[in-house]
Amino acid sequence: MTEVAENLVEVQGRVQAAAERAGRDADEVTLVAVSKTWPIEHVQLAVDAGQKILGENKLQEGQVKIPAMDQSLEWHFIGGLQRNKVRKVFGLFHWVHSIDSIKLARYADGVAADMGVKPKVLLQVNIGAELSKGGFELDEIREHFEEISKLEHLEVMGLMCIPPAVAEPDQARPFFQAMVSLRDELTAKHGVELPELSMGMSGDFEVAIEEGATMVRVGSSIFGARSYPPVG
Ligand SMILES: *Cc1c(COP(=O)(O)O)cnc(C)c1O
Repeated sequence: MTEVAENLVEVQGRVQAAAERAGRDADEVTLVAVSKTWPIEHVQLAVDAGQKILGENKLQEGQVKIPAMDQSLEWHFIGGLQRNKVRKVFGLFHWVHSIDSIKLARYADGVAADMGVKPKVLLQVNIGAELSKGGFELDEIREHFEEISKLEHLEVMGLMCIPPAVAEPDQARPFFQAMVSLRDELTAKHGVELPELSMGMSGDFEVAIEEGATMVRVGSSIFGARSYPPVG
């Protein structure tokens, strides 16, 4: 077994155990293997071990890897999304986790309409209200959610966050809880489903699952510590 395959099995076991601790079914949790910076041969090791869902944070890397790899793979765009890249991202990726402003949501809806597609997207929330981070602030998402939920060409599947960096995974717990509260508040107020919560990375995915994550984005625990410059 390759080291990547071993890592993958270990992460899957940790996902399973975290789900069990929370009385949840591990099938409710989608593991997105974040392959950013890794060359195709290395990403392929995870695919060979059965991983079908991959995440990238740069269009340029997706343009190198996605056409070259098995066409049955599902690719998630998880990075900051500039307007001028929306069209190409929608053309390549199956999910976009990072719709981070009302302006981008409106623009992306127009692009999707023009392309005749209805991409699955998540709204990124700046749950720690950090100046350095992108994402909707809480008051912004509350203010604009009604409009966003009516955009006809985006399938808004849920919310995503990257919580503030913390020393211990447990310290991220309140941020994950705040995401669940926000989701519950929005679904109650607007009568729409937001089934997906994309939260949790290598350092904190177990805590995120205990709190209700349905998608975890795990890179270094599967592929190893990143050292390569981005591919592409
Ligand atoms: C890189 C990245 C991840 C994965 O991070 P790891 O700590 O390597 O698991 C998850 N989410 C986003 C948005 C990322 O950019």
